[in-house]
Amino acid sequence: VRRAPKDRRPSVLALANQKGGVAKTTSVASLGAAFAEQGRRVLLIDLDPQACLTFSLGIDPDTVETSIHEVLTQGASIADAVLHCDEGLDLVPSTIDLAGAEAILLPRPGREYVLRTALEGAPDDEASPAAYDIVLIDCSPSLGVLTLNALTAADGVIVPMPAEMLGHRGVGQLLDTVADVQRILNRDLEVVGILPTLYDGRSRHAREVLADVGERYGVPVLDPPIPKTIRFAEAPAVGRSILSTARTSKGAAAYREVAAALLKRA
Ligand code: ADP
Ligand code: MG
Repeated sequence: VRRAPKDRRPSVLALANQKGGVAKTTSVASLGAAFAEQGRRVLLIDLDPQACLTFSLGIDPDTVETSIHEVLTQGASIADAVLHCDEGLDLVPSTIDLAGAEAILLPRPGREYVLRTALEGAPDDEASPAAYDIVLIDCSPSLGVLTLNALTAADGVIVPMPAEMLGHRGVGQLLDTVADVQRILNRDLEVVGILPTLYDGRSRHAREVLADVGERYGVPVLDPPIPKTIRFAEAPAVGRSILSTARTSKGAAAYREVAAALLKRA
């Protein structure tokens, strides 16, 4: 295993949207698997107390000893919490304990910087975050302290959003939060783009919304949109992403294309 030079740090991308069911978790697992296929060392961080990403990678949160909760609230290192999963992915798992983390962090000074500091890691550690090329953070459906930690730790934010929801004001609200973070917590945070998900290309409405959303919000729209496909529902049941359960599906192909485009611009 090639060790990353000490001064190198991975690219950190947060996938955030305060709405549930917009394919944040699916996109983290699928883009992560696509980056790993392309030879990158990938770390996924489950920052949602519902632990859907942890489940979807075949891990029962009840069996987890050190999770992101201990990293954020008890000073555990990322390396202590990392689990090695299928498809060449490493994961910092979540458990339901994380539901109490916001309240624990709230009175602490610098509460938004805890994840960022943890990702700086201990440089000599074999499993230090510096050894990864890419870190993907799966946010919970809220704009609370956990999501602020993700946005503060990140170089870029990707906003997964079903085409039908692109017209709603949730996008503007999230982009306002991102602007606050850029102003106060993390000047270097970049809006990588909106990732259109659950896309039904046969719907004229979906096509129209997609055509106008980039201009409307002044942010990039990632391409191609991720098509809605029944194959996605099957993947988490077996602890692997759609990239290995449905290698040749349109959805897997779309995630590979988006991942390749992201690598190219990095
Ligand atoms: P979030 O993390 O934003 O709550 P999820 O990734 O858990 O969203 O996805 C919500 C639901 O939509 C899940 O049941 C998932 O399997 C399904 N889903 C995600 N992407 C697709 C897709 N492209 N086609 C069909 N179903 C999808
Ligand atoms: Mg989720």
